[in-house]
Amino acid sequence: MDKRIYLDNAATTPLSEKVLEAMLPILKEGYGNPSSIYAQGREAKAAVEAAREKVAKALGANPPEIFFTGGGTESDNWAIKGAAYAGARKNKRHIITTNIEHHAVLHSFEALEKQGFETTYLPVDDQGLITAEQVADAIREDTALVSVMYANNEIGTLMPIAEIGAVCRERGVLFHTDAVQAVGNVHIDVVAQNIDLLSLSGHKIHAPKGIGALYVRRGVVIDNFIHGGGQERSKRGGTENTSGIVALGVAIEEATLGLDAHIAHCTKLRQRLIEGILGSISHCRLNGHPEKRLPGNANFSFDGIEGEGMLLLLDMKGICASSGSACTSGSLDPSHVLLAIGLPHERAHGSLRFSIGDQNTEEEIDYVIEVLPPIVQRLREMSPLWDSIVKAQA
Ligand SMILES: *Cc1c(COP(=O)(O)O)cnc(C)c1O
Repeated sequence: MDKRIYLDNAATTPLSEKVLEAMLPILKEGYGNPSSIYAQGREAKAAVEAAREKVAKALGANPPEIFFTGGGTESDNWAIKGAAYAGARKNKRHIITTNIEHHAVLHSFEALEKQGFETTYLPVDDQGLITAEQVADAIREDTALVSVMYANNEIGTLMPIAEIGAVCRERGVLFHTDAVQAVGNVHIDVVAQNIDLLSLSGHKIHAPKGIGALYVRRGVVIDNFIHGGGQERSKRGGTENTSGIVALGVAIEEATLGLDAHIAHCTKLRQRLIEGILGSISHCRLNGHPEKRLPGNANFSFDGIEGEGMLLLLDMKGICASSGSACTSGSLDPSHVLLAIGLPHERAHGSLRFSIGDQNTEEEIDYVIEVLPPIVQRLREMSPLWDSIVKAQA
């Protein structure tokens, strides 16, 4: 195969043709500043507002509840720090999250700890789930915020968001969800699911990098995070990323229109991949929940070998995937997510994530199923651990 097979859609997605087409006129001619009062400014402003309507519609929200940001990381930082600081003024300094969040959430929590906030990290079970009861039990009089991710980026597990939302609403605690992986992959309704704050990102849904949004339910007050001019109704300063905003609007509209077909396509390919891999490779497991998972996510652990070795050999075969181990994160620790679901260090090091998108085909999946078993075998033959693992389990 001379073509690259891109199976890392949870890391980022290719730009959609329709999105690019919508951006080009903004980049070329539509350079007006949305704050300017002449025609070019008004046109830019109208484009931003049209995109806001599209984002709102996709979430079941109202346009004034949508604020554009510089991406998922900024949205998470704003939601969490903004809610914590607003809570602190009412003497609420306790915040709750899970132990498998994205670092945008975990490191925001750590930053707040250093400022004197008290944190609770709810432990997930071996499939990556927490329950609404765990949240209910953790909420205190002084709890300002609960932040639970909608879908995990590594193992794909989908959290019981509506149930958690109901608990938080009943107890009068703000509920934020990092939905960066969920948007465009599952049906979301912020009203039905009692969500107060929701983060999303453009580049995970075929828009460019560096654009995202935060949904803030009407009536919810959080502190500003980026101080500057009066943009975004004075809540998020900075001249608008007009082309990125237009791109996000088109991308989320496309994703919503095609959602059912997308879910069907990705689920079918995912199951084909899971059955193919588990059926042809021994000492291999699927990580995450078998059904409550993102349509396109398949995460495996292979005994006796390291993720990086597999990634390099897959790359030589033209396949892009990801692993939850050392090199990718630039640290020697295996993924905090895989450790949180109880994998021992060795097994967490030998993990591989494939994330499927609309552009992937059955032939591509079959190619992976064909080339991966010999790669795993080759690495295991070179592994000093392999013989003892086989003997110990025999
Ligand atoms: C990618 C991702 C983010 C970060 O989004 P950026 O737009 O890249 O900053 C946050 N949370 C999750 C779950 C993600 O997958």
